[in-house]
Amino acid sequence: MRKLLLILPLFTALIFISCQKEQPILETNESIESFKQYANVDQQLWPYWESFENEARIRGIQIDLEQANLMGVFVEIDQEHVAGSCTFSSNQPRIIRIDNTIWNELPNLYREFIVFHELGHCVLLRNHDETEDQHGNCLSIMRSGINGCKDAYNAENRDFYLDELFNNF
Ligand SMILES: [Zn+2]
Repeated sequence: MRKLLLILPLFTALIFISCQKEQPILETNESIESFKQYANVDQQLWPYWESFENEARIRGIQIDLEQANLMGVFVEIDQEHVAGSCTFSSNQPRIIRIDNTIWNELPNLYREFIVFHELGHCVLLRNHDETEDQHGNCLSIMRSGINGCKDAYNAENRDFYLDELFNNF
């Protein structure tokens, strides 16, 4: 399946935010700074790009997103509940699009969730994984958001989910 994604001339993976009303992630929004800069990536995404590299490095994986042929932009996505997408195409940069409206309503940790999910597609080349535990909690941030499992990403279990993200590509 991973190979298939690369062969397809144009492929877009979408991330849906949960339609559930309850917000599992409660957190105040302090601003996050980045030390690196990424060409063709909106500045708001830099801290998340850098954090992704750092979390990969902690787990023994070297990822340099400055060298990746990857764009990151904010747009208004027409489809309801779609927070972001990753588009692959053969000879052009991969593009991560983040819905501007949804982004502005989310706390930092949920923003991270969305960005890391899209980087999971665009950089780790991961597909969706709907695995859930016996309580119906998603066991991967690579869940599609349309198959029913509940997001449980929070500050306490973040490491569990990032281990899962980086150890399965
Ligand atoms: Zn997705």
